[in-house]
Formats: sequence, C-alpha cells, structure tokens
Amino acid sequence: MIVILDSSITESAEEYRQTLGYLSQLPNVTAHVHKVQGAQQALTEIYLIGDTRKLSAEDIGMLPGVERVIRIAEEYRILGRHRDGQRASGFEYNGVLFSQDNLNVFAGLCAVDTPEHVEQMLRALRDHGQVCTRMGAYKPRTSPYAFQGHGKACLPYVFELAGKYGIKVVAMEVTHESHVEEIHECLEQTGHPTGVMVQIGTRNTQNFELLKAVGRQQEFPVLFKRGFGITLNESLNAAEYLASEGNSRVVFCLRGVKTNMGDPHRNLVDFSHAPVLKRLTRMPVCVDPSHSVGTRERSPEGILDLMHAAAQGVVSGANMVLIDFHPEPAKALVDGPQAMLLSELSWFLEDVALARECYEKRQALAGRQSR
Ligand code: PEP
Ligand code: MN
Repeated sequence: MIVILDSSITESAEEYRQTLGYLSQLPNVTAHVHKVQGAQQALTEIYLIGDTRKLSAEDIGMLPGVERVIRIAEEYRILGRHRDGQRASGFEYNGVLFSQDNLNVFAGLCAVDTPEHVEQMLRALRDHGQVCTRMGAYKPRTSPYAFQGHGKACLPYVFELAGKYGIKVVAMEVTHESHVEEIHECLEQTGHPTGVMVQIGTRNTQNFELLKAVGRQQEFPVLFKRGFGITLNESLNAAEYLASEGNSRVVFCLRGVKTNMGDPHRNLVDFSHAPVLKRLTRMPVCVDPSHSVGTRERSPEGILDLMHAAAQGVVSGANMVLIDFHPEPAKALVDGPQAMLLSELSWFLEDVALARECYEKRQALAGRQSR
C-alpha cells in the first residue's frame, strides 16, 4: 500500500509526524518513506510493506496530511502505475524534462571513435536545435577481440565538446559500477559541461549487482534497456532493482528481442509495448530503432526501415528515441552499417516530428470518445 502525502507537507510538519507515527506502529507492517522528485513537485510517499490486507485504505486516507492511498500489486512497487492515473511520472535532469507526456531525441554515435567524429556529430545536433545525444565509451561486445570502446580516456573530450555545443544530456552505457565513478570524476574535473544519463545495456538487464550499484547513486538518471531474451515482466522487475535501491529516475527502452522470427532485421521490433509500459509503469518510454532494426535497408517509397520503426514507436506515444548516427559510417568502429548519416538528420527529425504530431492528434481523438 502506498500512502501519498499532500505536496505541502514537509518532514517538519505536525501532520507528517502524526501520520508516520501512526503508520510505524501498525502490527506486521513496515513503513518506508520515499521521496519522489517529480517534474513539477516533490512528493512524499510512504510504502507500507507486509500484511496490509486488513488495513482500511479509507481509514488511512483520513489521517492528517494524506492526499490519497493506493493499493499496490507485489510487482514494480515503486516504478509501477498501480492503476492510478494521477501518480507523478518523470523527472527533470540538467534542464531536460523526461516524462510520459513529451518526447526527446537522442541521436549520436554508437561508439566514440575519434574527437573529430564526436565534434562533427555534436555540431550537427546543435545546428538542428538538439540538446541530447548518445555516445558510447564502454562497449559490451560479443567478441573479446572486437573494439571495446575508448573507456574513460575519451570522456574529457566527449564532455567538453558536449558543453561546447550546448548538449545537456549524453546517454552512455556502463558495464561496471566503476564506470559510474569514472564518469562522475571526469564531470568534476571538466567542470560539469554536460549531464550524463547512465545506460544499462540489454546484456546487463539482469546483472543485479550492477543494477543495485547504479540504483544506489542518485547523481545520474538511468536509461534501462529491455532484456533481449526475457519477458517484459522480467525486465520490469529488473528495472525495479534501481528504484528499490533509491534511484527511480529511470527511462525504459525498448530495443527489440532476439529471435530469428525478426529476420531480416537484427531483432524483432517490440515497439507495440510502448503503450503497455505506460499502462503498467510511470517510466518515460524510449525506443531504439538502431539496435532492433540493425540495417539501413529501405522500403520502395524510400523510407529507411529504421525511420519506419522510430515513427511506429513515436506514433504509439514513445517519449524518447535513441538512434545511431555517424559522420562517416564506413570508418565507424561499431555498428557502422546501421548508422544514419548526418545528411539525413533533418529528414529524420522532421519525420519524427510528424509522427509525434500524429500521436498527439490520436490522443485528442481518443479524448473525444466517451468511455
Ligand atoms: C547500445 O545502445 O549501444 C547498445 C549496445 O544497445 P543494446 O544494449 O540494446 O544492445
Ligand atoms: Mn550499437
């Protein structure tokens, strides 16, 4: 059960003391206080864990300072929606809003290779009014002999160039908790020219120790990739590890699932789960067409499969698009064949904007139906 306090109630308020005091002495129930920093306001939620079946939600709703009470399912306690349409979703990070109601595009390099390519990419993004990007420094590779990413050596120039071109958030995968520390130290040393959204890759979706470590830190929000060989429910339980350790600033990313039924695409595109995620959880939803489609093939009208997939996600209400671009794909050290070209950036952004407009019209149309 979750007891949500009125947003005006602070820890020093008499109502807070009385209500928490009452809830803390309930038999066979433990009360955990959880602060939720929403996009607009900070909320206090008190989680009642244990034997809550006999408790009356109505009685608890009458306690001082209580706004409302929600009965929750066992799963995804913190990140879940629990059939409550009003629960706050999303967060703001480094001036950028992430929520279930807006859309951010993260176009960038799958893997950082040279400072020149990073600069060309970031300059193009700035010229197109973009403030977010993706830049992989730590790359989990299938083969131990493949390029593993430049690691911490490239962080100073990535962050400084991001600052130079007005980029506010860089999505960057970490494969070990020490990488979070390296990112933190480099941002300190370079004077925080940008922000980082730490990415958990599909190969680490169920690396629970990594999830706990990334969940314990509050500095960076997390872009959490769906596991490519597990159910959606298993991936959501894994994401909850982050929140259960204290970090609920999580964006959930669909990136396709592994099965040869998806051939000739790299993975079977799963973007029809975008609305499912919004129904089940309060996380903003990201789609990654690059790692699900994995090719630059196009259909007869000339639109790349990558763009079709991105648009399908956005038309279904996705809140973020993560996509590989490269100034010279032939020279890319990772995933060159699936990268979009800088000359395609404005086409891609316009196509995404069209899809978003379509989603907003669909939302308004649905709002006019009586339910
Ligand atoms: C990536 O986004 O760079 C990546 C490796 O994605 P995934 O973990 O989804 O394969
Ligand atoms: Mn890649």
